[in-house]
Amino acid sequence: IPVDVFDLVVFGGTGDLAQRKIIPGLYRRYWGGHIPPESNIIGAARSELDDMGYRALAREAIAEYVSEDKRDPEVIEAFLARLSYVAIDAKGTDGWDVLKTRVRKGTVQAFYFSVAPSLFGDLAERLHLHEIANAESRIVVEKPFGRDLESAKALNAVLAQHFTEAQIYRIDHYLGKETVQNLMAVRFANILFEPLWKSEYVDHVQITVAETVSVDGRGSYYDRAGAMRDMVQNHMMQLLCLIAMEPPYHFDPDAVRDEKLKVIRALDPVLPDDIVRGQYQAGNGQGGYLEHCEDPASKTESYIALKVHISNWRWKGTPFYLRTGKRLRARTSEIAITFREPPHSIFDDAEGWRENVLVIRLQPNEGMNLKVMIKEPGPGGMRLTQVPLDMSFAEALGESGTDIPDAYERLIMDVIRGNQTLFMRGDEVEAAWGWTDPIIEGWEKRGDKPMPYDAGSSGPEDALMLMHRDGRRWREIR
Ligand code: NAD
Repeated sequence: IPVDVFDLVVFGGTGDLAQRKIIPGLYRRYWGGHIPPESNIIGAARSELDDMGYRALAREAIAEYVSEDKRDPEVIEAFLARLSYVAIDAKGTDGWDVLKTRVRKGTVQAFYFSVAPSLFGDLAERLHLHEIANAESRIVVEKPFGRDLESAKALNAVLAQHFTEAQIYRIDHYLGKETVQNLMAVRFANILFEPLWKSEYVDHVQITVAETVSVDGRGSYYDRAGAMRDMVQNHMMQLLCLIAMEPPYHFDPDAVRDEKLKVIRALDPVLPDDIVRGQYQAGNGQGGYLEHCEDPASKTESYIALKVHISNWRWKGTPFYLRTGKRLRARTSEIAITFREPPHSIFDDAEGWRENVLVIRLQPNEGMNLKVMIKEPGPGGMRLTQVPLDMSFAEALGESGTDIPDAYERLIMDVIRGNQTLFMRGDEVEAAWGWTDPIIEGWEKRGDKPMPYDAGSSGPEDALMLMHRDGRRWREIR
């Protein structure tokens, strides 16, 4: 569905994120006919560039990050003609008066803060000081949204001086992923799953986000963050919320976000024994973490596995196991819901029996897989075996399943539509920090060192124990 005509200012419009995600994403939506041709995209950053220079930068970004089948020279030129550039200093006065002349009144106005969070306050203040933003304007802010509760509160406070909550779009690009939204569709558009979606029937839930990339190239940022801040507090917390939340009364921004917030508030503190932190070391021909960061004695974790309970009626007694890491054996993100045993078995074949597992694959090959028991074929009597009911969304949906929009382009279109459902609310972010802060403080106070694991492996041995001692197993990372 096409959106209204808009003016989008991309602060940090020459940066890495703008080049890799924002510009290519906007181009793809333009190519798809979802952006009205009268819309304007205005890059605003520190570099001294003119409109032509910015268009050249955008042309290169499109050449590099948009697939060939969507690179139509005529469409590219028409898209580039909508781009312009203003050199601006977020901390000074340069460029603001020019920017004011570029943003039209009466169109949807959005300001994307694709800059370091330390500049958010400056941008918000100047947008008002120079009378560029109004009560209808929207601002989009990137992660990291703080590094603890205190800094997140400070960021929220500084934005709140100039914008209302309804104007602020905090991006967690995980929420823009097609399959992550599908989690809600699967749960709430089917009668099949919801009756079983509780501790009475669910033994445990595993959420895995495994990456093969190292932290090389962003070592100085990452070393101050670590896996807990970089992945768990935001992306994994969002996945956990979508799995665990109560059905919202409507697919409406505040209804959904109210339910997610309740989950975060119901999370138990995590005991030190229920966390394993890891740091990759050289292995399988790949270098170690310490070669990629500045501090040769860094205790930052590039891997984390933890067990958490949710203290509410639905989930009491069902542990959620979360793990994420860099430089692991394979790139995979999935949620696996393992169901309990049937109350009574009428079959003698105890050996063949396995529990039902519903696996929701977020990447690669997005889809769902439900493991069910059937009779093993053949004359050998009633022997049981487990088979997967496997569905690849791309295969099942044919053509339309292969053209899945990237998370960023979907989220930017939602900003223009004024739909905040897939954006984090300020209180959600603060509640998530409120849960992670004591965990991080705990290991910092104890001086815990992360356990080493080989690059290219499945993570530290101790993470296996986290499951084994509960009589459970992690699913293989592959
Ligand atoms: P970057 O360093 O590549 O680009 C920074 C941009 O900010 C440049 O355009 C620069 O000109 C501009 N800038 C810096 N100081 C300025 C000033 N005083 N006034 C005006 N403009 C100024 O950064 P990036 O990687 O594009 O990241 C931007 C934001 O997005 C950061 O908050 C980052 O944490 C977040 N983010 C980035 C990625 C990514 O993949 N790059 C992913 C998630 C979140």
